[in-house]
Formats: sequence, structure tokens, C-alpha cells
Amino acid sequence: MPDEPLYAGPQRPAAAAPRILVVEDEPRIREIVRAYLAAAGYQVALAADGRRALSVFDEEPPDLVIVDLLLPGLSGEALIRAIRDVSDVPILIASAKRTDDQRIEGFRLGADDYLPKPYNPVELVERVRAILRRTRPAAETARPRSFASGRLQVDPATRQFRVDGREGRLTPTELRLLLALSGMPGAVLDRERLLAIATTGTGDSTRTVDVHVANLRRKLGDDAGDPWAIDTIPDAGYRWIAPLDREPAPPGRGQ
Ligand code: CA
Repeated sequence: MPDEPLYAGPQRPAAAAPRILVVEDEPRIREIVRAYLAAAGYQVALAADGRRALSVFDEEPPDLVIVDLLLPGLSGEALIRAIRDVSDVPILIASAKRTDDQRIEGFRLGADDYLPKPYNPVELVERVRAILRRTRPAAETARPRSFASGRLQVDPATRQFRVDGREGRLTPTELRLLLALSGMPGAVLDRERLLAIATTGTGDSTRTVDVHVANLRRKLGDDAGDPWAIDTIPDAGYRWIAPLDREPAPPGRGQ
């Protein structure tokens, strides 16, 4: 994704929102973590390996780094060492469960916290909050921020939306789908990817995604045959087609 901005948030988070760099080679986990952190109001950059992480780090230093240890190429441990050579940015290891000794080694390298996989993304967000509260209390200001796209306005904090003057409320799943789709306008997201983002349990089929998207469309007043928001790409998936407004709605502004 070379042309995307380094840090992106579907709901266009406040410029002051903390920046989180997620280093994770598993695409599904990356997307899930991105969706949850973005919904929590953080700016998120993704890196699939350590080298990419270091180049993001050099270009725009994050406020916190989430590191998977088992990475292709540069290991998570080597990445942490390289970061620690130049920065005391908080580091959260989110990686497969290991022995106590290996976990202790992670802390010795300078990690601030260690969350074993598989983890609940909600817990990951809570750990991020807790670390940032500790390390930069004045700056931990991430709040889900309302955003606008075309005729739609959404407040992720309350899941309330307004479209054409009509108001309603999204379910958490619908909100995650909406954030994922609108976060990559124009990009086709396939059902597997959307399923990973939309649900935390296993056993759901990709048909579930179609049902959630249909519900979302109904709430937004979007017509599958003539959509303004969500376009169906046969045999591929869905994409967001409404323009994103440059200036989101004001709540949360001024800090
Ligand atoms: Ca891995």
C-alpha cells in the first residue's frame, strides 16, 4: 500500500490523536487491529515486516508501536532493539504465547507490555489506552470522532448516524464494516477480509458479511441496484464509493 498515507483512520481522527504503528505479518490480524484502533480514535499505520516498520518509524515516528515477534525477515526482537537504539516510544508486544523466559526477554529488550495471541482486539485497545495514559497522560486524547461521507454523518462513539436528515444507530458490527469500507474508499474489500473485521468469533461464514452489509445498506438508505455508499463488486466484494468530506463534523475539535 505504497500510496496510502502512513497513518490513516477511517473516521479521520483528530490530528492530535496518538499514532499507532502496527507491525504484523498476518493481513487479517492487521486489518482487525486497524479497524479496532481506528474505531477507538487512533491514527494507525500498518507494516507487514520489520524493515517497513523502521521506514515508517523514520518518516513519521509513532506514539506507540505494536509488535508481533514472529515476522518474516527482521525478527520482532531485532526490530525492538533497533527502535530502542533511537527511541523510548512505548512498545506493546502482541505475539504468540511463549515461555516465561521468552516473555521476560521481551521486557528486557524494552517492551512495555506483552499481550499473548490469540487476543481479543478489545483488550488490545484497552492495553494501548493504559500504556498511553501512563506514558503521555496529556496526549492520550483519542476519542472516536464523527466523520462525514457524502450524505452520511457518523459518530463512532455513540454509533449514531444521520443520513439525509434521518437518524439511526448502527450495531457494533455494522460500525466496524462501515469504518473498514469507508476507511479505504474505492478499494474493493473481499468477504473474507470483511468477515475478519466484522466478527470476532469463528464459525461465521462469508454469507454473514452479506447479511450485515444488507442491514447496513438498509439503515443508510442505500440501494444495492443504484448505490451511493456501498458498491457490490460481483465475485469480489464491496467498496465504498461516497466521497469523504475534507472537514469532519466539529465534535472533539479544539484540543
Ligand atoms: Ca507473525
